Amino acid sequence: MSLPLIEVDAALQHAIANFELPQPLSFGARTGPVLFVADYRDGQWQPGELVEFGPIPLNPAATALQFGQQCFEGMKVFWVAQEQPAAFRLPAHIARMKRSADRLCMPSVPAELFTQGIASMAHAMKPLIPRGSGDSLYLRPMLYGCDERYPVASAENFRFAIVCSPSGPYFAKPIRVLVERTGSRAAVGGTGDIKAGGNYAGSLLATQRCKQAGFDQPLWLDPASRRHVEELSAMNVAAIIDGEFHTPALSGTILAGITRDSLLTLARDRGMVAVERSMAVDELLDQIASGRCSEFFACGTAAILNPISAVADGERVVQLRAVGQQAAVLKQALLDIQEGRASDAHGWMSAC
Ligand SMILES: *Cc1c(COP(=O)(O)O)cnc(C)c1O
Repeated sequence: MSLPLIEVDAALQHAIANFELPQPLSFGARTGPVLFVADYRDGQWQPGELVEFGPIPLNPAATALQFGQQCFEGMKVFWVAQEQPAAFRLPAHIARMKRSADRLCMPSVPAELFTQGIASMAHAMKPLIPRGSGDSLYLRPMLYGCDERYPVASAENFRFAIVCSPSGPYFAKPIRVLVERTGSRAAVGGTGDIKAGGNYAGSLLATQRCKQAGFDQPLWLDPASRRHVEELSAMNVAAIIDGEFHTPALSGTILAGITRDSLLTLARDRGMVAVERSMAVDELLDQIASGRCSEFFACGTAAILNPISAVADGERVVQLRAVGQQAAVLKQALLDIQEGRASDAHGWMSAC
């Protein structure tokens, strides 16, 4: 059962026709002129609408603002070598947002409504979807509680909205990460394994301290033992060790990245051994120092792969020997599927 594409009215058509893409087009530099909204009211999802992007009314006492009752997704639509724009791993994003919504006591967005929203956005934005290699329409679906509440309690009315940004490639220069030994991104039994807005505000201070120390991002450890590598604030991590692909196993405090999952699959497709396991940070630092670990990188939708050039732990700094070699091969393999040059053997692309 699929819902029809939502029509673009004359006013919105005008806004799209008059929208100027930033030059040069970088990643996420400007929000596109179209906004999709659908409300959950009286226990039911109401029909979705496309409106011109702009500020939206929100009750200042809404649970989204007071208690962080909010979750989101980040995904891409590609239109490079394909006839039609195509979304990457849409069902996986829908399923992940459902897990986030369940965890935060929000109604999940029905797959048909989510799909209608993405397809209608892609259709309306067609004149503005950049079509060079590495370009995409980046989409940010979000769900939040709208009712005012003073005691801590869930809202009953919610909004699902999608904003977009016609984007150029994310220029991923190698980053230097700093092992975070005091703060935690997530708690055992907490919300680290869902894409909840509140997870990110809590990570900002560590990032700020990291930058002051001359590094780019904190490398978070597991919050229970503080001995195992987890991820960055908005990207998973993986390493090439003895020629194998290793990434921390989903521990309950790691966000299950769709890029991470895709790279595990592509590494196996290429005949590489790909392992999910708990990765002790001290061991990893030794393996980097000895050269057994030749590459370490971050992965996520925006950058796909972002090489890491150095890892610091207090005074100790270890440098990666090869920066981004295998990473570049895997990134290209993924881009070839996303941009329609390679066969989509895993059924990851859905035409919009
Ligand atoms: C979004 C996100 C990732 C990457 O997930 P993708 O689905 O690959 O974009 C990894 N870690 C965190 C904490 C995230 O928020």
